[in-house]
This record gives sequence, C-alpha cells and structure tokens, in this order.
Amino acid sequence: MLPRLSGRPIRVEIRRCLGPHLAATSIPRRLVLLDASVLHRRGEFERILIHEIFHFAWVRLPNATRQSWEEVLITELDRNVPGELGWSAEWRKCKLSRSDRQSRTRAWRRYACESFCDSAAWLFAGFRTHDDFTLPPRFRHFRRNWLEANLPVSSGVPI
Ligand SMILES: [Zn+2]
Repeated sequence: MLPRLSGRPIRVEIRRCLGPHLAATSIPRRLVLLDASVLHRRGEFERILIHEIFHFAWVRLPNATRQSWEEVLITELDRNVPGELGWSAEWRKCKLSRSDRQSRTRAWRRYACESFCDSAAWLFAGFRTHDDFTLPPRFRHFRRNWLEANLPVSSGVPI
C-alpha cells in the first residue's frame, strides 16, 4: 500500500498521445503527464503514477539517504546482480560503465534516481509480477527492507 505522502498537490493529466515516453514529469510545475495507453493494462496506471510521484520524493530525501540508496546499488553491481524493477532503471543500468559509478556521473545519478522510483513503484503498486521485474528475488527483498527502513512512512513521505 502507498504510504502517506506530504506536500503540495501534484496535478496529474492524461494525454491521448504523449510522445515517446509513457510519462513526463515537471517537478517545479508539480505536474505529471501520463499517456492514455497506461490505462489499457491492468495496474499500469498505478505503477507508472507511483514511479512519477517518487521522483518528487527523491529530490526531498536527505543527501545521506540518497547516498545510502547508491550504496545498495553499488553492492548489487559489485556482485554482478542482473535486472531491475522497471525498464526505466534497467536500460540505464545496462549502459553504465565502471567510471560512471566511480565518478558519480550524471548517468549514474540518473540511474540511482530511476531505480529508486522503479523500486518504490514495485513495492507500493501492490503486484508482484511484471515483465519489467527482472531483479532476482533476494535483492528485491533487500530493496524492500531499505525502502521500509529509510522512508518516513509513519510521518508521511515528503513530496
Ligand atoms: Zn522516472
């Protein structure tokens, strides 16, 4: 279940033909645009909307918490763990080089953000199987523990 969120309202609009991506989000405008095709597959609207909402949560997380998430990812990469919990993170993961990681390049930081949003969507959208859920179960479990331990679920997640 989605934890309580705290912050100003975010406007969500459905567009008939959004373009190449299923969603477009503006954090400063507090606006999420979703392609109408997300309504066609059961659960997809929820999964993609939660992903987009967690972009707002990511920018509000303390730096230390974001770094802690990066540590989770580094541990996985050190063990050559394949897969992700969404395509948005997965294609970025596939393109990462060792130097992206070491220098914390823009590509690395973007991957960290997308994997966080995909993991939140996986956890909170409430269904366990999807073509995009390719991370091995043991590591899904680890991500779930991290999210439950690090998101201020009881007081409301700032967005
Ligand atoms: Zn995203």
